[in-house]
Amino acid sequence: MTALLEQLHRLQDRIQFVRDRMRERDTVPADLVEVDREFREKVEAVERLKTRLAEADKEARRAEAELADLKEKQKKYQTQLRNVQSSREYSAVLNEIDGVDRLIRTTEEKFLGLEEEIESARTELATREKSLPSETAEHEEKLKDWRVAQRAINDELTQAQKEIDGLEATIPPRDRAEFHRLLDKKRGLAVSRVIQIASSYSCSACHVKIRPAALQLLKAGREMVYCDTCKRILYYEANS
Ligand SMILES: [Zn+2]
Repeated sequence: MTALLEQLHRLQDRIQFVRDRMRERDTVPADLVEVDREFREKVEAVERLKTRLAEADKEARRAEAELADLKEKQKKYQTQLRNVQSSREYSAVLNEIDGVDRLIRTTEEKFLGLEEEIESARTELATREKSLPSETAEHEEKLKDWRVAQRAINDELTQAQKEIDGLEATIPPRDRAEFHRLLDKKRGLAVSRVIQIASSYSCSACHVKIRPAALQLLKAGREMVYCDTCKRILYYEANS
C-alpha cells in the first residue's frame, strides 16, 4: 500500500508539473508581449488581406455576371420598344428600360469600386508579403532567449511524460481509474499528504484533523484511507 501511495503521489506531482510547465511554455513573457502582439498583427493583416481579396474577387465576378444579365435585358426591352403597338405599351417598356439602366449604372459603379479595392489590396499584400520574411527573422531574433527556454521546458516535459507513462503502467488499473476520477473531481489534487504538528495529524488539503482510528489504519498501511472531510486519498510518510 505504501508503495502504491508513493506512486500515486508522485504521479499527481508529475501531472501537476506538466500542467504548470506547459502553461509557462505557452505564456509569452511580459517583456515580449508587445513585440509578439505587433508581429502577430502583421501576420494577421496578411491573412485578412488574402481573405478579403478572395471575397472581393468573387463579388466582382458576381457583379460582372449581373451586368451581363442586365445588358441582355436592356437589349430585349429595346427590341420590344421597336415593336410596341400603343403609346401605353411604349411608356411601359420605356419604364422598364429606365429601371434596367439605373441597375446597370449602380452595378457598374459597384464593379469599378471592387476592381479598385482589389488593386489596392493586391499592392498592399505584395508590400506586406515582401517584408514579412525579414520581420519574421527579426521577431525570432527577439524571441531567441524565450525559444531556448521553451525548448528546455519541452525536454523537461518529455522526461516527465515518460515518468508518467511508467507510473501509469505500474499502478493497478482500478487504483489508477479511482485516482483519475478523484483528480478530475478535486481539481488536480487526489492524494493529500498528512501533516504532523506535534502530536496532531491533519489533511494538508482541507486542514481537518484526522481521527485516531483513521490514523491507525493509515499507519498500518494495509488499505486506502480517505479524508473524512474532503474525501481525498490520504498519504502518510512515516519519516516526514
Ligand atoms: Zn481532507
